[in-house]
Amino acid sequence: MKVRVDADSCISCGLCVEECPEVFEMNDDKVCVKVDEVPEVVMKACKEAAENCPVEAIRLEE
Ligand code: SF4
Repeated sequence: MKVRVDADSCISCGLCVEECPEVFEMNDDKVCVKVDEVPEVVMKACKEAAENCPVEAIRLEE
């Protein structure tokens, strides 16, 4: 599974970085995805981060 963040929608709240630091990181107040493929072991945390994003900026792609 791949994951993308819509930089235009993201409000840099940091929630996804807190929930899944293996996938998301904050870089100059912008969230970046630091993996090409989401590791199986953090899949659940990554999906929760996407569900909990307040502006629905996180897209998961199979
Ligand atoms: S949870 Fe959503 S709005 Fe907050 S930093 Fe992550 S992508 Fe941006």
